[in-house]
Amino acid sequence: MGNIINVKELAAKYKESIKAFATEREVQKKSIPTLATVLVGSDEGSQYYLDSQTRVAKSLNLGKVNITLPQEATQEEVLTVVDELNADPNVHGIMVLFPLPAHLDAKEVSSRIAVQKDIDGVNPINAGRLFMGDKAFVPCTAKSAHTIIKEVLGDIKGKSVVIVGRSNIVGKPLAMLLLADHATVTIAHSRTKNLQEVTRAADIVVAAVGRPEMFTKEYFSPGQTVIDVGTSEKDGKITGDVKTDEVAEVVAHITSVPCGVGAITTTLLMQSVCEASKA
Ligand code: NDP
Repeated sequence: MGNIINVKELAAKYKESIKAFATEREVQKKSIPTLATVLVGSDEGSQYYLDSQTRVAKSLNLGKVNITLPQEATQEEVLTVVDELNADPNVHGIMVLFPLPAHLDAKEVSSRIAVQKDIDGVNPINAGRLFMGDKAFVPCTAKSAHTIIKEVLGDIKGKSVVIVGRSNIVGKPLAMLLLADHATVTIAHSRTKNLQEVTRAADIVVAAVGRPEMFTKEYFSPGQTVIDVGTSEKDGKITGDVKTDEVAEVVAHITSVPCGVGAITTTLLMQSVCEASKA
């Protein structure tokens, strides 16, 4: 299947430029771009993401601060940590890992992260800026899907994109990024009628649903580019939303799971930390 997009190779290119940026900062005796990540409790997925961030930051010569609070931490305690990181001149990017324990107010925590350090675009001010077409930090998964599309297709002006999934961290921000590139964007969701017809008519399909292998070949047509954002566990394996083997036989380009969108997300998060360090 020669049409599987080599996302690792793309990520390597971005890693090189991040490393060069970090070296340049060092030469100029400026502070090292540093990401602080806050984990409350011990969610397994969040712990995995935290470890991956720490590994990638180290390999790129970036700074990394990990703060872990107990599961029973109060809202005030979490907000105090965020306030301290907001005020710390050696921290350029802040990420609070979600989901937070159920007793905490995630919206209040998101809104508390300083806009200029909100590298995952969770503060509504960044979301609003993105909506207005202004410069903003964008949720990294949406940024990753957008980056892959642009790297593979270049100019997407006038192309039709169907995004299946309307979450605040994937579908909606990705739609804004693609609209800014003058694509014609449709967002589909669980109430969309005739989904197969909708996806088959697009030039680009992004699946961000979280239902393993829901998208079989009947959803696609020749020449399409398919980005599979989904990550679910099925039979002990990480599985995407798209039945990759059979769909790859139909379309022009497709990402796999694993080694797809997730293979560039942390790198692009670090790119946002570098951007934040310029401010
Ligand atoms: P959400 O659960 O927030 O959203 C899922 C979306 O899929 C909703 O809009 C929902 O519609 C829609 N949906 C559900 N069932 C169907 C259906 N049968 N037909 C059409 N649409 C449907 O998920 P997220 O956006 O947070 O994540 C989506 C996937 O992406 C998950 O698998 C997640 O694990 C993965 N992910 C991967 C990341 C990566 O780095 N690779 C990072 C973040 C997420 P409705 O709104 O109507 O309910």
